Amino acid sequence: LFANHDIHVHTVLSSCAKDALATPTNYIQRAAELGLKTIGFANHVWDRSIPGASAWYQPQDMEHILTIREQIPEDTLGVKVLIGCESEYWGDGKVGISRAAADQLDYILLPMSHTHMKGFVAPGSITSLAELSQLLVKRFHEVVDLRIATGIAHPFFPIGYTEQVDEIIAGISDTQFEDCFGKAAEAGVSIEIQPKFFPSLLGRTIEGFHDATYLRVLSLAKRCGCYFHFGSDAHSVAAIDAITILDQVALQLGIDQDDILPALR
Ligand SMILES: [Zn+2]
Ligand SMILES: [Zn+2]
Repeated sequence: LFANHDIHVHTVLSSCAKDALATPTNYIQRAAELGLKTIGFANHVWDRSIPGASAWYQPQDMEHILTIREQIPEDTLGVKVLIGCESEYWGDGKVGISRAAADQLDYILLPMSHTHMKGFVAPGSITSLAELSQLLVKRFHEVVDLRIATGIAHPFFPIGYTEQVDEIIAGISDTQFEDCFGKAAEAGVSIEIQPKFFPSLLGRTIEGFHDATYLRVLSLAKRCGCYFHFGSDAHSVAAIDAITILDQVALQLGIDQDDILPALR
């Protein structure tokens, strides 16, 4: 496996992970079976020292996600285990994790496209897909400028708009992407590659969302010299298997070891 790590994995500590079997022990077991070298747990977190948490985020604080440390089995079957998080970025420089909290974790994933959280992450003033495209560009710049993210979770993926992905991404020009990814490359902020970017490879047909869209996005990131990491965004143990489809994506994009986030090589 070239895609031999998965650092975007949610356990039962994330409110949206409904699979009671989504425990570190079960994930590590499956990761070992798949031949993964590293697994990283990135539960949703909102640090209590930061005001503005939504009701959904409130119980998912640092203390909550750090209980994972007691859940990691002694024998990790040769798989390296990292404890990270997926926090939140909701505009105007506002991020759901403080630097002090970030220092307690191995890595920080920040999303800039939880656009399904309407009236919170996505302002209520957004009325068109074109505005959404431009919001994503703005948020990407802002999130990189924070200098707190190790990597961007599902970059530019407009959650809640699956059938409009092609159109929303087409609304962002190559130059805009190059400005974004040039900045990320300079800051060493890693670009996440997720299986869900490639519906055809997953055997799905989705009107308005084709594999070519993310091949374009990621090839621009590659051209700009960004680091990459792989992340399944699994919310159940079976979902990490999808990481294996990313070998062919990496090959197609010409991504090699030197392009991978150094800590994961
Ligand atoms: Zn996310
Ligand atoms: Zn996630």
